[in-house]
Amino acid sequence: MSELPLPVEHECLPCFLYRVTGMQSCDGSLKLLTHYRDQCAPRATALEKKMRMLGGYCDCEVLLNAVRPATTQAMRLIEVGEDLVCKGVRRGTIQPCENWLMRRGVQWGGGRFSRRSA
Ligand SMILES: [Zn+2]
Ligand SMILES: [Zn+2]
Repeated sequence: MSELPLPVEHECLPCFLYRVTGMQSCDGSLKLLTHYRDQCAPRATALEKKMRMLGGYCDCEVLLNAVRPATTQAMRLIEVGEDLVCKGVRRGTIQPCENWLMRRGVQWGGGRFSRRSA
């Protein structure tokens, strides 16, 4: 079994994915995402499904498709591959910190997933 890095205190999901996929290449699975979920937000059981709906079929695609940088500063750092300092989130949430915006179409409030009929 390969050792996966642990999320640091209050680190949000996209910051964790960004940090770890910068250290080791994506293997085409959502293993980092599920690892984060298991560590930080075990009740977010629909997380993989949610990410796939947003086009995130593996860890790096979650970063590319499901979220985008919320600030110019974050965008610049990501462009050049620099470290991003997580702004911090409360424990148990899968919401991103202020560095990121979720793509529309998924409701994140209260940790509950509700799909709107189109
Ligand atoms: Zn990938
Ligand atoms: Zn963050």
